[in-house]
Amino acid sequence: MSKQVVQPRIRGFISLTAHPDGCAANVREQVAAIRAAGLQGHIGVALVIGSSTGYGLSSALAATFGYGAKTLGVCFEKEPADDKTGTAGWYNVAEARRLAAAEGLTYETINADAFSDEAKEQVVEALRRIGPVDMLVYSLAAPRRREPDGTVWTSALKPIGAPYQGRAFDLRSEAVVDTALDVATDEEIEATIKVMGGEDWRHWVYQLRGEGLLAPGARTVAYSYIGPEVTAPIYRRGTIGAAKEHLERTGVQLHETLSQAGDGGGAWVSVNKSVVTQASAAIPAVPLYLSAVYKVMKAQGLHEGTTEQIVRLFRDHIGPGRTPTLDDARRIRLDDLEMSAEVQAAVERVWDTITTENLAETTDYAGYKADFHRLFGFGVVGVDYDAPTEVMRSIS
Ligand code: NAD
Repeated sequence: MSKQVVQPRIRGFISLTAHPDGCAANVREQVAAIRAAGLQGHIGVALVIGSSTGYGLSSALAATFGYGAKTLGVCFEKEPADDKTGTAGWYNVAEARRLAAAEGLTYETINADAFSDEAKEQVVEALRRIGPVDMLVYSLAAPRRREPDGTVWTSALKPIGAPYQGRAFDLRSEAVVDTALDVATDEEIEATIKVMGGEDWRHWVYQLRGEGLLAPGARTVAYSYIGPEVTAPIYRRGTIGAAKEHLERTGVQLHETLSQAGDGGGAWVSVNKSVVTQASAAIPAVPLYLSAVYKVMKAQGLHEGTTEQIVRLFRDHIGPGRTPTLDDARRIRLDDLEMSAEVQAAVERVWDTITTENLAETTDYAGYKADFHRLFGFGVVGVDYDAPTEVMRSIS
């Protein structure tokens, strides 16, 4: 037992602390929204890779509390130790498990490196007990990948073909700055594809299939992003975009295999909208773009977070009995509202006028910052941040 007063210790795009009660309140709010959505049908077993924060957390919560699935999550979080808090994902998972247990639902977590053979073996062992997978969600956002032979691939966020010069937001000084990024080398492109492309997703699918742990009609989905022209040089046309193209091609190949039986099974990539997560905060220009697009989408009544996006994904596309609607490249497009001509034109109109001084008026930086703090459980209404709280919480 270790009670502490937990305060934020923000360093750029990360907080070194996380508030257990704030994270728990965030999870309860997501569960309430999922319940309110009234999702129809039942999912037997869900496996979510990258289950503790962002899109993966919302997916795991939707499967469990929206469809009554027995859910197994894989994540890579730090547990609380000595005088240090755990990471936000740790506390999210602890609360999800607590809520599920209170209702007799299954919500188990394996906290391990998803790229490793050991994690895959642990999952196989757990699924032999829980049952074969009906829904596999692949939602990893990782900075590096260690292969079983010891090779380490480190992803890069760099442009391809030409250096990048453009506007960005320095989260430390809260200033709009000009950034310059060098062209990625071939090695950096390859490494980023290794980390964020489709290879590991394919490994998961084939390993589970080989073990007889994919249920008849099993479905799998992985998440991608396209985004606007203002972030394209470093996102879609950059190293991470090359990895996403690989992921999307992998989805097409996996679909050929999983749809063969004609029992509703298949593989899809869902292109989701940009939202504030730990992963997106680390990408140059994205925090500034998010602040701008949040203002536009909130003004037009179109704002969505991860929960709303995932509810839409399951309800309209990949949930029980649903047939996904796809674009020409076989992708589900949950970014339809963000990418609409009206929204993008409004962002472009403001983009070149944003300065440090007018940030508060030209963008929804306040909304961005509040969401960013909430990722770590801070700024949540109803939480007493002056009171000591138990930081040692269990996920199993
Ligand atoms: P996130 O940072 O919130 O979540 C990443 C998850 O991966 C966490 O659960 C973390 O514990 C887990 N993880 C990281 N490394 C791991 C490892 N080695 N082993 C096991 N688990 C590991 O990220 P997110 O923004 O929700 O991104 C999830 C996916 O959604 C990514 O593919 C991302 O590209 C995609 N996406 C994100 C956005 C966005 O704006 N955030 C938009 C569209 C698509």
